[in-house]
Amino acid sequence: MTYISELTAICNKYGCCTFLNVSLKNYTTFKVGGNCKLLISINCVEALQEVIKYLVDNKVNFEVIGKGSNIIVSDNGFDGVIILFGKDFSEIKVVSDNILECQSGAALKKVCCVALENNMSGLEFAWGIPGTIGGALYMNAGAYGGEMKDVVLYAEYVNEKGELVRVDKKDMDLAYRHSIFSDNRNMLIVKVVLQLVKNDYNKIKLKMDELLQKRIDKQPLNFPSAGSTFKRPEGNYASYLIEKCGLKGLSVGDAQVSEKHSGFIINKGNATCEDIMKLVSLVQEKVKDDTGYELELEPRIIK
Ligand SMILES: Cc1cc2nc3c(=O)[nH]c(=O)nc-3n(C[C@H](O)[C@H](O)[C@H](O)COP(=O)(O)OP(=O)(O)OC[C@H]3O[C@@H](n4cnc5c(N)ncnc54)[C@H](O)[C@@H]3O)c2cc1C
Repeated sequence: MTYISELTAICNKYGCCTFLNVSLKNYTTFKVGGNCKLLISINCVEALQEVIKYLVDNKVNFEVIGKGSNIIVSDNGFDGVIILFGKDFSEIKVVSDNILECQSGAALKKVCCVALENNMSGLEFAWGIPGTIGGALYMNAGAYGGEMKDVVLYAEYVNEKGELVRVDKKDMDLAYRHSIFSDNRNMLIVKVVLQLVKNDYNKIKLKMDELLQKRIDKQPLNFPSAGSTFKRPEGNYASYLIEKCGLKGLSVGDAQVSEKHSGFIINKGNATCEDIMKLVSLVQEKVKDDTGYELELEPRIIK
């Protein structure tokens, strides 16, 4: 495949790491999925600009991932290129008293720590959400009454022409697990700028500890998963509906509706994507039949 050698040459020019035939299982928190042809770990905007132009001009399939905590990869893998925003693109800068500027591959966990160390409040809700800041903005990740919409000021992305574009919060169309980026998959987020508020270190820390404890108490964190399997349906909770339908603990292979939190499907060891998707369908059908609610899958499928 010529695209592999040509892309590798572009990446070498910028010192970006590339990996051939990588198992995506190791790049997702669900720990399922086959291989991709080429994985590129982005390390600078210029490399991304050239890579994207190449991919689009040559009609090569590509997908973007951060920490893979909200994706499910097909057992057959992905016949194309995976662009990874990870530790090679994860700088966090304290710009002023209340502004943090993050490269999109920065781990949300790290961003929360930098905010805390600098007495900046607002991101406490995100403590314990796995993933990168780029993935969090794409998903408008949220928890315990907070969401990315509350803290983002502006972002920068690279479009399909390889141009670097700035977008302000008001133009991001942020809503429950939705953003302009989730509607336009050729907008690759490279920078997320957060506006926080000054607060007392101990108060911030207390809130973070409290929210993390809630997660530990309620969520099956000792098993691989992609977090909540279904979006919250209007006016109800997926976990409540699933439990009410008697589906807690239901399994297909090693995929199981968690006994600890019915909103999570977990991988008990050797689950496949097929097991998970069969279980997802069983849950969706039963919940629809018994309650009328249609549960929508939250993680993105990569196939
Ligand atoms: C145990 C557990 C608990 C969780 N709890 C929560 C929670 O409380 N609240 C919540 O909202 N979510 C939760 N999640 C889901 C997940 O952690 C978040 O959605 C997270 O923000 C995803 O970030 P990521 O970097 O892992 O993205 P990925 O899973 O890698 O990608 C998710 C989507 O974002 C896109 N994307 C990623 N980076 C970029 C980028 N730079 N530019 C453009 N597109 C990009 C990908 O293409 C993909 O479509 C949980 C997951 C787990 C496993």
